[in-house]
Formats: sequence, structure tokens, C-alpha cells
Amino acid sequence: MSVRTTCPYCGVGCGVLASSDGTIQGDPEHPANYGRLCSKGSALGETIDLDGRLLAPQIGGRRASWDDALDLVAERFSQAIAEHGPDSVAFYVSGQLLTEDYYVANKLMKGFIGSANIDTNSRLCMASSVAGHKRAFGTDTVPGTYADLEEADLIVLVGSNLAWCHPVLHQRIAAAKEARPAMRVVNVDPRRTATSELADLHLQIAPDGDIALFNGLLAHLADVEAIDLDYVTAHVNGCREAIDAARKSDPLESGLAAFDLQEFYRLWAGTKKVVTVYSQGVNQSSCGSDKVNAILNCHLATGRIGTPGSGPFSVTGQPNAMGGREVGGLANMLANHLDIENADHRDAVQGFWGSPTISAKPGLKAVDLFEACASGQIKALWVMSTNPAVSLPDADGVAEAIRAVPFVAVTDILERTDTGDLADVLLPATGWGEKDGTVTNSERRISRQRAFLPAPGEARPDWKIICDVAAHMGWEDAFDYAGPAEVFAEYLALSGATRDFGRDLDLSLFADVDYAKLIPTQWPQDDQRFFAKGGFYHPDGKAKMLPVVAPSQAAGTGLRLNTGRVRDQWHTMTRTGKSPRLGSHLAEPYVEIHPVDAGALGIGDADIVELSAGRAEGLFRALITPKVARGNLFAPMHWTRQRSSASWVNALVDVGTDPVSGQPALKAGQVQAQRFAASWYGFMASASSIETVAKYSAVARTKTGWQAELAGNDRPDWLELIKHLTSTTGTDASFVEDRQAGTIRIALTRGDTLQALFFAAPEPVALARAHAVSLIGTETGGLDALAGFPGAGQVAPGATVCACMSVGINTLRQAITDGATSVEALGACTGAGTSCGSCKPELKALLLEQTSPLAAE
Ligand code: SF4
Repeated sequence: MSVRTTCPYCGVGCGVLASSDGTIQGDPEHPANYGRLCSKGSALGETIDLDGRLLAPQIGGRRASWDDALDLVAERFSQAIAEHGPDSVAFYVSGQLLTEDYYVANKLMKGFIGSANIDTNSRLCMASSVAGHKRAFGTDTVPGTYADLEEADLIVLVGSNLAWCHPVLHQRIAAAKEARPAMRVVNVDPRRTATSELADLHLQIAPDGDIALFNGLLAHLADVEAIDLDYVTAHVNGCREAIDAARKSDPLESGLAAFDLQEFYRLWAGTKKVVTVYSQGVNQSSCGSDKVNAILNCHLATGRIGTPGSGPFSVTGQPNAMGGREVGGLANMLANHLDIENADHRDAVQGFWGSPTISAKPGLKAVDLFEACASGQIKALWVMSTNPAVSLPDADGVAEAIRAVPFVAVTDILERTDTGDLADVLLPATGWGEKDGTVTNSERRISRQRAFLPAPGEARPDWKIICDVAAHMGWEDAFDYAGPAEVFAEYLALSGATRDFGRDLDLSLFADVDYAKLIPTQWPQDDQRFFAKGGFYHPDGKAKMLPVVAPSQAAGTGLRLNTGRVRDQWHTMTRTGKSPRLGSHLAEPYVEIHPVDAGALGIGDADIVELSAGRAEGLFRALITPKVARGNLFAPMHWTRQRSSASWVNALVDVGTDPVSGQPALKAGQVQAQRFAASWYGFMASASSIETVAKYSAVARTKTGWQAELAGNDRPDWLELIKHLTSTTGTDASFVEDRQAGTIRIALTRGDTLQALFFAAPEPVALARAHAVSLIGTETGGLDALAGFPGAGQVAPGATVCACMSVGINTLRQAITDGATSVEALGACTGAGTSCGSCKPELKALLLEQTSPLAAE
């Protein structure tokens, strides 16, 4: 029997029908996705096994009882508070938490411990949007709904690779555009991405050129008298000042040609129904909040907000970033969109909680929080369901900072993570599939996550662990909930008790809802758009347009490193990394580099590139492409110390934060690049796990075990290396070595069964990797496997493009050579794109690239 739940990955918040046997389908009744799922959502069933799970508490790496672990956490936090005050402790939490988890974590820290040192990895995702919303609207309101994306006549996607990061929204827009070809899509991004394939116009702006672009738009709107004077007069302050400031910007500083600017400005000014969608490319910047306000200014000036098909739209990366915001999950907020710096708000929340105290000032934001760890201010730290030793900027510095904290507790579902490895106490949490609670997606829709699997081992839900610690600290009565329904009921009651403050977040619609039967519902009510008739949340009820100054485009000291995501992985791969299907899309860390830069640096295709910034270094496979502009690089952020030897890219990024939101500028690294002087390259497929011991290693799951891409600059003793690479014992080794060519192939067999294959060469290893992987576990003799390689008559499918149907790039290229001229034709002959559809933009790009080489430039 299937259970109605919600996908745990991105902020689209798709409904899922899940069964305990791992069967996953899109929920046709969920208004976010109407049955669609992307490749990550479709593969959820492959991520719910117990391999690597943390199943019992651990103290100092040894199994412990819950009572001992909770006692120790409570004791060390209480001791730090007693000796050094409440601000000597901190929680670092996650947009993966459910709203009920977030609610009790905030209640414990802000209302009982008395500090606001609780921040979340959502700070890395959309804090600049929160700051921009609050400055413009007076509260953190996302005014639009997903339906607006289908009703718009112009969609502007700014700093948003929707096709990979919010694929179902991308699919909804693609379907709407197909049904209404007059709809226009503009993609504003310094990089050409899969999303650009949907766009009528790709504006390849300079990094952080957004403010110059939107200030130029605002000035243009004024010039062509497109300002909605009635709306502005009735509902907006600061329009004149914002336009005056905008006129001081030079739109050409956006990096765009005058012709493209005029085309964009003409389109925007002439289209009433415009939705501007933005995400990390806007937010993860040292001027992210100003970028948000530059966008909001244009919508406020034209009154293009809150009507069907019109408005600014911040889409969140995290599945429950919005829920966290709603219950005060950031260090500078209180529950129900109330302000921590407002004494009346604080009194109301403290009174409702009956708590002994409440923090009177904002706490440490994420980056500051880990700096406080390094400086010795933080004596006890609790990290919940996130991996800051990989995901924060200056990731190695953050790992050092965590190591410096006298006591660290980590809650996670996995026994080994880069952050968990630094913990004194590990607390096992239930994972998706085992959890009950609610999440809020990017359009303010609250949905249920429902358990369809039993809690494994001794794992407990996050809300329960937090309440247990609170009880061990002496606050049992205030944290005595029978289940998440009671936590949710208290949250609703708090919302009711603070309604008189007149905030946007009104949950009265849910007051009589049966928690067990809660259906996906938007607050304050379904399909409600805010602000069409004003009603903003500044004291005078008006919005504020802000004068925004474009940053000067200072020359960097090296190449500019943009970081981001790939289609089939989520965050630090703790779940998506379990799926062989997802791992085959882009199986190793890579860096996109422009052909001219690559040529100047002597870097060839498939070389390894060494990036450095200060003391930090990283190794990445070169992907030479004109999709990045000259002087720019792009590398994904997913690889960790568990999955690679030197490829956690955020170690290379340490370039400050937005001064308003505290969000780090994760897309603005400055690095030096050079070719890594590899003396050998290798590939290994193995039935057992592969250690990341080579200088360059990137491991991934396969259907038959594991695979690894390898390289080194010291030619090793091959058998010694293999001993360190794999734990396989009791095997016989077969060799084929060509000393003249410098190549070696090794097969390990146990009895008749092939356990591992290893290939090394002085050049990047060219072989049919899928074939090598498929031989593992078969009764192919060692020498037979090596001699017959690559598989006679078999075309290597190449890197997976369609994860659902396992279709590789070489298969697709062959199909195009054989006459396929459309995405549909590729689907008909290979199956690609016929399931979740997430790969369709890549199919389109492949068709363009192969049939018209100039189109790819
Ligand atoms: Fe999950 Fe994909 Fe939907 Fe995002 S778009 S919620 S990752 S299925």
C-alpha cells in the first residue's frame, strides 16, 4: 500500500506515493507536481536502504545507550551555559528538518537556553531573499504561486538553473510554453546551462552583473513611462529615489551588449504578465540582498506583483527552507515571521511558551557561527542533519573550527559524514521514509511527510531527540509532546496567539484540519497571491523600493569560481550518492573551463585540473566548454571527503558574505588553475568499496558495487595500491601489462567470480566503463575479462544522460548520427526522456550541438 508523502530534496516540494518495497511514483493529486517527478525524486526508492546508517548513539566512536548520550549532551550544554553564558552554545540545523523539528529546536534555543545561536544551512540558500523581502514588503512573504509560472507571458529566470535544480518547475514551464508558444523565457546567467535550452534569450551577464541589469531596467521603465503611477502612489514608497539611484548605474556593466539589453528591456516593459524567478545565483553573493531588491523594485514600480501570472518569485533550494523561516529557523527571526528585535513580539512568544527567558538579540549567522567556533566562543555545538564541514565556504577551515569546539554533537542518518567524523556524540535520526511531519514548499504550500518505513535500529525523529535533550536539561514539561501532531498544534496555537501583530503568516485555515489527513494547502489560503492591492507589512501598509547601487566590477586575482549543483545529486550525496542510476549521470567532480583558458593553461579534455586558493587545493576533471565565459570556472559542490580525495569545492571559496543577510558568496571564488601533472590515470570497478587513497580519487556506487576514477603523480607499486584501494581479500590477481605503452590491467577474482578490475595508463583511461562495471560479480575469469576488454562489439554507452532509462551519451550521439532530429525521436529510439523528463534539456542541447556546432558556442 502506498503512502502520500513529500519529496525530501528541493523546494518544489513534489508529492510522492511511496511504498515500503521502494516503489515511488509522483502523486497525481499534489498541486506542486501533479504526478511528475524528476530523476532524483524517481530514484528515492534506491536511497532508503540501511547501508551506512547510524543505528545507535555513539560516544567517542563507540556505541552508547540513548540515556548516556542524552545525559552527556545535556550535561555539556548545561555546563557551558552555566560557565560561559547562553551564547557559548550553538545549534546549526538544516532545511532538511521538518517544521516540527525546527519548531522545537528554536523553542529550546531561543526560549529556554536563552540564546539565538541557532542558524541553518538555509542561510546558504535564500537568506538574501528573506532580507530583500523584509526590506521591500516589511515581512518575508513569497507573493506568488506555481500557477503564475504557467500563466505568465514572460518568465525571467535569474541565477537559476531550474532544469537541474527545480526540474519539475522547469517541466511545468516547458509544458506551458509548448501549449502557448507566445510565452517568452529569458535566462539570465553567467553560464549557459540546461535551463538556457528552454530560453528564447540567454543573457550571459558578468558575475554579479544583476544589479546593473535590473537598475537599467528600472530606468528604462521610467523612460518609457511603464511605471504604474496609480499602484505606486497608493502602495509604494521610495520609487523616485530608487529610480534616481538606478539611473546612476551603467547597464553595460552587466557585461551584456547594448542590443541584448534593449531586447530584454523592450520585452519586459511591453509584457504585463511577468514572473521573475530567482535562486542561488542571486542569493549567494556579497550583494545578494541588493540584487533581490533591484528585482523587487521593477515589479513594485510596475505593479506587476500578486496578480495571476505576475510577480517576483524566490525559489528555495531546500525542501523545508520555507518551513524553517516560518518557525524562526534563522538566527535573526522568531516563529510566525515575528522579529526577535521587537520587544512586543518577544514578550508574546515568551508568554505563549511560558519560557524562563527569550533571547533579546539576533544570534550568530552561519559563517559567523563557525568563526565563533574557531575563536573559542562556542563551547558546545550541535549540528543537526547537515554537513557544514563540506558545505560551508572555507570548508577545511570550518572542519578545523568544529574540531576546536570542546563538545560537538551531531545528529544524522549516516554513521560516516565529514561532519559526523568530528563529533564527540553521534545521535541517530530517522530519515525520509521514516519521518512524520510537515514541510512548506516555495509557494507557501504545507504538505505532510508521512512515514512508510519503520524507524531502523534505535533511530529517533529529530523533534523527539531535541525534546529528549531538553528534558535532560530540566525542561521536560515544556517539551512533552506525544508526537509531531502535538508540536504542529502548538505552532498553530502560537500563530493564533500572535495574529494581532498582523503578520502575513496566518495559519487559521489549518485550525480544524486533522493532522493525519492534512492535504497540501497554501497559507493563508490556496492560490492566494499577496500584494495585488497593496497590503504590505511596513507600519504604513506600503512597500519600499530601495535605492540600489551596482557593485564595481573589480578585477579578480585569478579565475572566478562559480559553484553549484548537478542534476542528479543532492547536497553532499548522503542519499543520492546511494543510487547507482543517479551516480552515473556525472560520476566524478569536474570543472567547466572555457577553451581559450584551457588552451592558455595547457589543459586538455579529461585532464585533471588543480585549483588553488590560499592554502586550499582541489582536483577536478577538466570539462572544456564555451558554456562558461572566459575567466570563469564552474564546479559542483557535492563531492565530500567520503567520496573523493581532493574535490570538496567549497574549501576553495572564502570570499565574504552579504552584509545584510549574512549569506556567503559561494559563487565568487577566486582561484588559480593549472594542469595536474598526473603520471598515471586509472579506473577501477569493484564489488566492495573503494578507498580514496590515490592523489585524485572519485568514487561512486554502481549496480555491481563501486567504481572509481583515479590519478596520481607518483607511479606506484600497482599491487600495493590495489591493496589500499579495496578491502577485497582472498583474491587472485591476473595482470596484463604493456611496459612500452605504460598500461596495466589487473583483475581480482575469488574462485570463478570477478571481484575487481583495475586499469591504468599514462593518459586518461579510455574504456567502456559500463562494460567493466557489468562484469563485476560475474563468472568471467580474470584473464578473460582483461583480454576481452573492451567488450567486443559493444559500444560503450558513455556518461549517463537519461538516469531513468540508463541511456548514455554515446548511445544518443549514435542515434542522432542515425537520423534522430528531435527530442521525441531520441525518446522513440533510445527511451531517453520518456520517463521523468529531467534530461530533456540535455537531449535538446545534444541535438543542437551535433546538428549545428555553432549553436553550442
Ligand atoms: Fe523532488 Fe525533483 Fe520534485 Fe524537487 S523537482 S521536489 S527533487 S521530485
